Amino acid sequence: MAFEVPDLPYDYNALEPHIDEQTMRVHHDKHHQAYVDKANAALEGTEWADKDVNEVLQNLDKLGDKETAVRNNGGGHCNHTFFWEIMSPDGGGEPEGELADAIKDKWGDFASFQEEFKNAGVNQFGSGWAWLIHDGSGLAVVSSPNQNTPVSDGHTPIIGCDVWEHAYYLKYQNKRPDYIDAWWNVVNWAKAAENFSAAS
Ligand code: MN
Repeated sequence: MAFEVPDLPYDYNALEPHIDEQTMRVHHDKHHQAYVDKANAALEGTEWADKDVNEVLQNLDKLGDKETAVRNNGGGHCNHTFFWEIMSPDGGGEPEGELADAIKDKWGDFASFQEEFKNAGVNQFGSGWAWLIHDGSGLAVVSSPNQNTPVSDGHTPIIGCDVWEHAYYLKYQNKRPDYIDAWWNVVNWAKAAENFSAAS
């Protein structure tokens, strides 16, 4: 089955005031849809058309002349599907349980982790993402350009923040650091904990 944009798991305005309704409408309905349409067009008629997007993204080197289109647009579909789920109107605060312990072991405290994550997002030149990943041995903060995804490296995203201008420009204009500061208020740590459990 071709890729489809999933419904948001909350209303378009549910992340207000941190993420505004208009941004969510354009981001979900227009940007994500465009990635899906282009990924489907690239894969139509190939053996990869009905595969799970994660499997496709772990085999980019086998896609021949479709590689770039799928890295960009299949990656865009994968990353945004993840992004909607890792935000919640009930989000914010700090993680609990094993994920909290693992962050404390790695960074000393939650604030130090937040600082490294924010820096990864702020310093990602141009469009891209900041990630907390599990790389198979433990947690790490990384950034990726464009729609490149940690999934292609065999890593498991725990949380990810979209730092493309389309994710924040309507409300925050050029102030990406302010957007990231606000974004912490909607991070779905319960979902992050599920991602961490599945990876570790
Ligand atoms: Mn985006």
